[in-house]
Amino acid sequence: MSSPNAFIPFTKPTIDEATISAVADVLRSGWITSGPKVLEFEKALSDYLGGSIVRCFANGTATMKIALQVAGIGPGDEVITTPLSWVATSNVILTLGAKPVFVDIDPFTRNLDLNQVALAINSRTRAIMPVYLAGLPVDLNHLYSLAKQHQLRVIEDAAQALGSSWGGIRVGHQQGPHDLVSFSFQANKNLTTIEGGCLVLNNQTEATLAEKLRLQGVTRQGFDGMEVDVLGGKDNLTDVNAVIGLQQLKQLTHFQERRTELARHYFEVLRAKKLDEALLQLPPDDFSNSNWHMFQVVLNLNRLDTDRNQIMGELKELGIGTGVHYPVINQFKLYRDLGFKPEDTPIAQGIGRSILTLPLYPTMTNDDLERVVNSLEKVLKRHQA
Ligand SMILES: *Cc1c(COP(=O)(O)O)cnc(C)c1O
Repeated sequence: MSSPNAFIPFTKPTIDEATISAVADVLRSGWITSGPKVLEFEKALSDYLGGSIVRCFANGTATMKIALQVAGIGPGDEVITTPLSWVATSNVILTLGAKPVFVDIDPFTRNLDLNQVALAINSRTRAIMPVYLAGLPVDLNHLYSLAKQHQLRVIEDAAQALGSSWGGIRVGHQQGPHDLVSFSFQANKNLTTIEGGCLVLNNQTEATLAEKLRLQGVTRQGFDGMEVDVLGGKDNLTDVNAVIGLQQLKQLTHFQERRTELARHYFEVLRAKKLDEALLQLPPDDFSNSNWHMFQVVLNLNRLDTDRNQIMGELKELGIGTGVHYPVINQFKLYRDLGFKPEDTPIAQGIGRSILTLPLYPTMTNDDLERVVNSLEKVLKRHQA
């Protein structure tokens, strides 16, 4: 099917004809913004997550911001999080006037090191905000017990982790009693609505507050049938996006199965070439918990005579797209100006410089994958120091 020289992107959404006609139906229906399709999507997500309370938002960033607002996070509060994430994670903390506290990561999982989290907790700490990089959760039992012990909220940035699980239970299904779980449906995620997100809440009061916060704080009650009692924004999902999500959700298990097969194949091929012994570090081969949102290797830069940029450029010339997820957040100017330093989280800093996302998406073929690995081998060997 795919031509031998076609460009292989690092990710690609899978949109079928049924999705396109479902979108056309909504566009023709006379109701195109938030309406019945959003309610149907929230119900379908709730079913997928074992009956949890779910509300949808315009994107993952808005979802996380509202999660923090629901948890009452504001000025003077500290939120412990990881520097190895998309900058949205800590931007929302700053947006609410709170302070992100960056804790270093575990070099193997590339997620927050929970032992270091425990050491960073103080009287101003209000919440822990872990990120499930590439779809691999942190140890959720450890996380919830830590939060319980210190009476902290947990706001899970599960943007990449829809379909992932821990101990056989889906992320967003069995959360701790003070937990909020945020997912993103941005174009690159395992399930996309183009842009969108959803929040799992643990009680009806907080769900009602989240509904108000996503639409100007308005509730349908009181004097003249409308009341505003909190400051909300404009963060609602549209029916056009929701109907894409409904179609994607039907295919999600199938998408994840294919991602998992491809991840297994990556391990086989990369190990057969022994690239993992000298030139790169493989991701954790956790096939019971990860949804394989990404397949990320860490380059052994001290065994190479060049940097990641050069490697990515040469791969691109061979028709292979790769990505960087992510440079550490505490090295960005905005954060350095606020006094954060990448050297404070040295493990994350090193991995942020050398992590590389290889192509992985449901319609990728085994031949595509082998082309990726052969090209990677060629480029790395060219630069072996
Ligand atoms: C995608 C993503 C987000 C933000 O989601 P948007 O829908 O793009 O706003 C946040 N955190 C992580 C880790 C992500 O991957």
